[in-house]
Amino acid sequence: MRIDLHTHSSVSDGTDIPEILVRNAAAAGLDVIALTDHDTFDGWNAAVAAGRDHGLTVVGGVEISTGLRGAAVHLLGYLPDPNFGPLVAELDRIRAHRNDRLTAIIDRLNRVDVHITQQDVLAVASGASSLGRPHVADALVARGYVRNRGEAFDNWLAEGGPAFVPKYAPPTAEAIALVRHAGGVAVLAHPWGRSSRRVLTPRALEDLAGAGLAGLEVDHDDHEQADRDELRALAADLGLIVTGSSDHHGTGKIGHELGRYTTAPEQYELLLDIAGRTPADAGRAEQAGETSGGAA
Ligand code: AMP
Ligand code: FE
Ligand code: FE
Ligand code: ZN
Repeated sequence: MRIDLHTHSSVSDGTDIPEILVRNAAAAGLDVIALTDHDTFDGWNAAVAAGRDHGLTVVGGVEISTGLRGAAVHLLGYLPDPNFGPLVAELDRIRAHRNDRLTAIIDRLNRVDVHITQQDVLAVASGASSLGRPHVADALVARGYVRNRGEAFDNWLAEGGPAFVPKYAPPTAEAIALVRHAGGVAVLAHPWGRSSRRVLTPRALEDLAGAGLAGLEVDHDDHEQADRDELRALAADLGLIVTGSSDHHGTGKIGHELGRYTTAPEQYELLLDIAGRTPADAGRAEQAGETSGGAA
């Protein structure tokens, strides 16, 4: 069984629509993927249906933008009830702020003589419910300013860059509580990646475990081998599940090919168990109500 628990579609900042993402996952020999678009469930229905066509289990997930002591921390939520009001309301709020932030980012770009418009961004973000910097990067590519997303982040969009604008994010512990109250399983995405490493100290991980965190994404491109060894040991100490995933974004992020890292079947089963599911019914997603906002 090959299991990849972190993927993005064009419903957020991946480059493939959910149907194509799932088809590619099946072609890559995966048996299970989780669709974990940023701050939205809008891809679930299409992905689960495509999974049925391709004989692949699609686990409904979400990657929630949270904040801890001023740093961005990404929280994966697996199998929450997509109609649980408080969680839906918080995701709506995050996406609304993403829209406002887009205008601020474009203003800052214009001030440094980089001329793209809101329309340019919406044109490259068709189908996205959750708008972010990668869409701005795609618009900069379309306008000929840079060759790829990475260059756009390096020049303007990364933290500390001339067009960086922070975004609204609920506290990590609060997001963990929301995921749990929605019946889901909370796992920290790439805890020692770029921005979150500074704040996710062993002590902070212990606190979050106490707040209901269920697992750590250990095997991920953002982690060196030494980080993985250390995180695995911390997970064992704290009784946390260990996952491994690609964080695939289509062609939007080089190196993150589907199945690049995978989750061990027994860890996956522990995760499902917390959500009250078995491998046989893991792909039975509640119908997610489509939300408003984004480029739609
Ligand atoms: P945002 O959600 O708007 O804050 O944008 C963050 C997203 O940008 C992350 O989820 C990554 O997928 C993407 N990202 C961050 N840095 C890079 C980079 N250097 N190249 C491509 N994508 C990136
Ligand atoms: Fe992303
Ligand atoms: Fe992330
Ligand atoms: Zn991700």
